[in-house]
Amino acid sequence: MDHTAARAEMVATQLRARHIRDEAVIAAISTVPRHLFIPETNRDLAYRDGPVAIGEGQTISQPYLVALMTEALQLSAGMRVLEVGTGSGYQAAILSALGVQVHSLELRPRLQARATQTLNALGAGDVQTHLGDGFDGLCAFAPFDRIIVTAAPNAIPHALRAQLSAQGQMIIPVGARKKQILMRVYNHERRLPDEPLIPVLFVPMTAG
Ligand code: SAH
Repeated sequence: MDHTAARAEMVATQLRARHIRDEAVIAAISTVPRHLFIPETNRDLAYRDGPVAIGEGQTISQPYLVALMTEALQLSAGMRVLEVGTGSGYQAAILSALGVQVHSLELRPRLQARATQTLNALGAGDVQTHLGDGFDGLCAFAPFDRIIVTAAPNAIPHALRAQLSAQGQMIIPVGARKKQILMRVYNHERRLPDEPLIPVLFVPMTAG
């Protein structure tokens, strides 16, 4: 099967069949060439229903999880979005296809360099990649309307919560391996409780 057909099948069987409903998210995932974010040796696994190794012990997330998290962000065009854990750059490309301003932060220099190259080669929209530790967030570009974290810390990092705008929200997996929950977290001042969404399994967020 060619990549375009494999991607269409992925959208039908992994996303629509599991009730991903946001047509803008579906359109972004239908368009962005996921295989180009995966090292050549693993490229034939690009459209399978699971995470795929991208080197350095890290993974590109399962397509369904990318869709679910992107939908959960409730984006509008023009929002400022921080992603923690650039990895392959795929999630950042999906975000930018939705017309938001993306800042994506990665701890591992080699992954950061490769993701930047992939995003540039594809001419992805408004994406800036940064090398740094997600536990510190990205002070210089805060506040963010949305933050999406794609590696799991044991607890919600204070700096990230502090970098949310007044109406900001963060989608973040929290907890030790095999006990992680995807959470929706609001700016402190809104005094809304953190909302658990679903159990998930991400690579751990590691200290820099
Ligand atoms: N969103 C990525 C997948 C992320 S895998 C994609 O679309 O491909 C998780 C990534 O988080 C890995 O690349 C890992 O190096 C990075 N990471 C782990 N701890 C981090 C930290 N403290 N700060 C920034 N990035 C971190």
